[in-house]
Amino acid sequence: MLLINDIIREFKKCDIPIDKQKAAMFMLYYRLLVQENKKYNLTRIISPENVLEEHFLDSLIGFQKTSNKTDEELLDLGSGAGFPGIPLKIFLPDLKLTIVDASQKKINFLRLLVRELELNQITLKHKRAEDLGRGKGRESYSWVTARALAPLTVAAELALPLLKEGGYFWAFKGPNASSELQRAEEIIERCGGKLINTINYSLPNSKKERIILIFKKIKKADKLFPRKAGIPQKRPLEKKIIF
Ligand code: SAH
Repeated sequence: MLLINDIIREFKKCDIPIDKQKAAMFMLYYRLLVQENKKYNLTRIISPENVLEEHFLDSLIGFQKTSNKTDEELLDLGSGAGFPGIPLKIFLPDLKLTIVDASQKKINFLRLLVRELELNQITLKHKRAEDLGRGKGRESYSWVTARALAPLTVAAELALPLLKEGGYFWAFKGPNASSELQRAEEIIERCGGKLINTINYSLPNSKKERIILIFKKIKKADKLFPRKAGIPQKRPLEKKIIF
C-alpha cells in the first residue's frame, strides 16, 4: 500500500509541492500498476517505496529543478507504464500529452490509467517512434522526453527528428551519460540536436545518480533519419571509442 501521507512526505523531501488531490491520483496510479502488473509484466519495480522513488519522483525531480522548461505540450517516447509522461501530466494538468509506445499491452494499461485518473488532453499511440518520425510526426513536437527507451545513439535518432526547430529533447539517463554522449555525437549532429544543458540529481533515499541531458533542435534532421523500424537498434550510428 502506498498512502497519501507517505506520498506527500516524500514529495516534500524533494521540494515538489503536492496537494491531497494529486497525492490521491498517485495512490490510485500505484494501485492500478500493481493490479495490472499481476496480469502482465509492466515493470520490475513494484514495491511502494521503489515505485514512489524510481518511477514517480524520478519522473518529476528534474522538471522541478530546472528553469529550462517547456510545459505546454509533451511527447513521451517509449513511455512503458507511463514514465515520465503521466507523472508530469498529473503535475501539470494543462499539458497536452502524447504517448507513443510500440507495446500494445503498455498502451492498454495507459488507456485504463487515463480513464481511471480522469486525465484529459492525452493522445495514446500504439506505434514505433521510427514510423512516427518518418511520417506525420516529423518535426512537429516542441518537447520530447524518453527514459530507458534505448542507448542515446538510438534514442537520439528516434527522438530528434520528431522535434520542431527550437524544441527540446530530454534524455533521462543514469551515471553513464557522458560515455553515451560521446558515442552519440555524430547522430545527434545529423539529427539537428545540440546539447544545451544537463540536470543532475540523486534520488532521495537510494541516492542513485541521475542526469537529464537537454538537447535543443537547432536545425532540421537529415532526411535519412530515423531509418526504418528496427534499423537504429540493429545498426546504431555510433562512434567507436578507442581507449
Ligand atoms: N519510459 C519507461 C519505459 C521504459 S521501457 C520507463 O522509464 O519506465 C522501454 C519502452 O519503450 C517499452 O515500453 C517499449 O515498448 C518502448 N519502445 C522501445 N522501442 C520503441 C520504439 N522504437 N518505438 C516506440 N516504443 C518503443
